[in-house]
Amino acid sequence: MLTERRHLQIAGSTAPATRDLVKVTSSIDGREIGSYPKTDAGDVDNAVRSAREALDAPQGWSQWTADARATAMESLATAIKSRVTSIAELIVHEVGSPLAFATGANGVTALALLKDYARLARSMQTEATRPSRSGRTLVRTEPVGVVALIVPWNVPIGILFFKLAPALAAGCTVVIKPSPETALDTYLIGDAIAESGIPDGVVNILPGGRDIGELLIAHPGVDAISFTGSTAAGRRVAEVAGRALKPVVLELGGKSAAVVLDDAPTQLVLDALYGSSFLNNGQACTNSSRILVPASRRDELVAAITDRVSSWVVGDPRDPATQIGPLVSSSHHDRVVHYIERGLADGAQISTGGPQQMSGQSGTTVRPTVFFDVEPTMAIAREEIFGPVISVAAYEGSDDEAIRAANDSEYGLAGTVFSIDVERALAVGKRIRSGSIGINGYSLDLGAPFGGRKSSGLGSELGPEGIEAFQTYQSIYLP
Ligand code: NAD
Repeated sequence: MLTERRHLQIAGSTAPATRDLVKVTSSIDGREIGSYPKTDAGDVDNAVRSAREALDAPQGWSQWTADARATAMESLATAIKSRVTSIAELIVHEVGSPLAFATGANGVTALALLKDYARLARSMQTEATRPSRSGRTLVRTEPVGVVALIVPWNVPIGILFFKLAPALAAGCTVVIKPSPETALDTYLIGDAIAESGIPDGVVNILPGGRDIGELLIAHPGVDAISFTGSTAAGRRVAEVAGRALKPVVLELGGKSAAVVLDDAPTQLVLDALYGSSFLNNGQACTNSSRILVPASRRDELVAAITDRVSSWVVGDPRDPATQIGPLVSSSHHDRVVHYIERGLADGAQISTGGPQQMSGQSGTTVRPTVFFDVEPTMAIAREEIFGPVISVAAYEGSDDEAIRAANDSEYGLAGTVFSIDVERALAVGKRIRSGSIGINGYSLDLGAPFGGRKSSGLGSELGPEGIEAFQTYQSIYLP
């Protein structure tokens, strides 16, 4: 069934936009699954103006009580709840995500975050008076203003709500720029917003590519930017935002390490491997794609990991049994295959998987691949591949050597430490320069700050701390 959208979700408009269409194709069979209108610079102006008016009007969103905003957010959650399945069904086609992941990491995550940030809005203290040297000062926390939310394709609705839920709670209005590949699922959020008590113009949706993204960031009506995407794009976003002196949060790429300490039970590593290294067909920023194992256990661990990875069900992501589905597009498939070929050319060995096409599978499917004999200087050990490909590398010696190997990366986003001794794993985790670490498995906590160090980004989102990017302070010196 085709999802044909003919309007733009700006200022609550439902008027059809007559212009060229952007077609979206399924990662499962390459067939068209829908289309939406192409956007231009005039739409950027309209979307920002709409957000500005909805923010600044005398009864605008920033003037609502926190309680009223929280009630509207809960009503948005109700409107999304009835769409969780349709959102997941679209994402399965757009991205190739296995159905369970498409559901849990997107619509279900949006519901949880709306609930959490509505609760936070209700308990938030936004004004306090403190003594000063000359009397008293009133310190106010205000919404930062109109925020551009720029979202990648890999977990389009989950990541959108990492940003949208705190932005709404803080009293900001927004322009969302989804990826061109995943605009259709974001339209479902626009439909839910139209049904909720959130006024027109508070949330505007502007699908488009990097050109639209840059116009949005540079627009004088935009006060701040929250961006998730690749490190290369993040650097460019920071440049454009920096020239305009706008605050940015950047959630970027990763090349995280799973550190297996010498006492880690093999079963522990195997049980966590899918969730910590292969989520979303390898298209998750937090995946630990480097597995660092003690040299003394290298052969045993490579054999066990190989057995486990080769047992995974590769296939149609609509089938609940499928663990690895197709990648988002043929160009991304070619990029991942190119990395596999490069790893082989550089001298690494493959124990399962490889660059060959899988018979009977979608053309964008990549075989889950395990490299071993990987040197830390190889591209497959240093660059983000963003597919179902891991490299197993051996370290000699103590935990210090494991930590050194884990930190030998330009990235610092996530990671995992495995040990039978949780205290020992914790001590190692604390010395890894990365924004989050899982002990004996990686399961992202929506209630704790999440962000990257080094080339993995700036600032953080999620948890109560995640609202800070959407706030600013005003101090009023009282007489
Ligand atoms: P991408 O950088 O190509 O695009 C991300 C978004 O930014 C898209 O909406 C795109 O249209 C837009 N964009 C690209 N260049 C821009 C520019 N110059 N100005 C404004 N907007 C621009 O990334 P992608 O391929 O969509 O997503 C995959 C990447 O995202 C991976 O590197 C992954 O690690 C990263 N990611 C990071 C996190 C995190 O939380 N750290 C989460 C998910 C994905």
